[in-house]
Amino acid sequence: MTTMKILALGAGGFIGSHLTAKLLELGHEVAALDIVPEKLEGCRKRAGFTYIDCDITREPERLRGLILDADLVIDLIAHANPGIYVKRPLEVFHLNFVENLKIAEICVAEQKRLIQFSSCEVYGKTVASLVPDQLADPDSPDLAFFSEETTPCILGSVQQHRWIYSCGKQLLERVLHAYGLEDRLNYTIIRPFNFIGPQIDFLPSEKEGVPRVFSYFMEALLDSTPMQLVNGGNQKRCYTYIDDAINCIIKIVENKNGVCDKQIFNIGTPANEISIKALARLMQDLYVERFGASRDNLPEIVSVSGEEFYGRGYDDSDRRIPDTTKARTLLDWQPEYDIRQTVDMSMAYYV
Ligand code: UDP
Repeated sequence: MTTMKILALGAGGFIGSHLTAKLLELGHEVAALDIVPEKLEGCRKRAGFTYIDCDITREPERLRGLILDADLVIDLIAHANPGIYVKRPLEVFHLNFVENLKIAEICVAEQKRLIQFSSCEVYGKTVASLVPDQLADPDSPDLAFFSEETTPCILGSVQQHRWIYSCGKQLLERVLHAYGLEDRLNYTIIRPFNFIGPQIDFLPSEKEGVPRVFSYFMEALLDSTPMQLVNGGNQKRCYTYIDDAINCIIKIVENKNGVCDKQIFNIGTPANEISIKALARLMQDLYVERFGASRDNLPEIVSVSGEEFYGRGYDDSDRRIPDTTKARTLLDWQPEYDIRQTVDMSMAYYV
């Protein structure tokens, strides 16, 4: 494989830091740009690594220079926690859409290949969540099986401003697609389905903000405080272990025979579907069986409304299962880790 000079924008986040480590291991040169360097600590001494401390919103000319210098641009810059979509929707729009659009437009102008991280959130909700009474089997997984080429995107109302994230990502995807139609941009879009693993998030008490559910449950176990199920916890997610995800992303970086040119890929583990309620129980079981906690000290599991937990404007994806046929057939990729292994390995880091 030929090695490349890769510009990883937003490399200091959960996915970016794992990806940077793997790219360096494979011999690529990585210019890792972020405003928070902590998660890249392990990469610092590795050959080929440069950390670029840059806020792209303040230094557009520097950004252009960095893109010019790269063989490949990977864009991971985004606010990506539902708590922020509800509390600071305009910030989400500006960073995730406006600033990302500028990156894409520089790639168009400079003819650079762009790997754009999007989200499974673009699919929104299932038809089953809207009209359950009109369906013979509203629990059928077929209704939540999301395919890149054919599944429509169903979002809630404007008043439910959680969807500004999804909508911004979707519009960005549509702009890249449109540039692709005019043959002005070679892009690949990635839609991650709930990756988890070491360093996914901070624990809620460590700093201000709203991390993802795994961190809330982890902290509840560590501190014996209640595990809170938002709106009852019947909503489902498919979790993917970060190493599985990174293996797929590397194949997209390599892009053998151009199979990823102008393509969208779901990356996820369809077999790892679990309700949030079942995730809470699984984490409790693992905490006892694998990490030696006493069953008597496990936190209680309570229910809380979405508005109480996140504030006004929250709404949720009820269910989302990735159709990974494209990743399987075009990239010869399959995830390896089942849900128990995935959660276990993620917990081990925090315990
Ligand atoms: N959630 C929960 N308890 C928490 C935090 C989140 O029940 O302490 C729910 C949240 O409402 C959502 C699911 O867990 O339905 C997953 O939320 P997360 O923040 O991990 O991200 P998402 O998958 O929605 O992007």
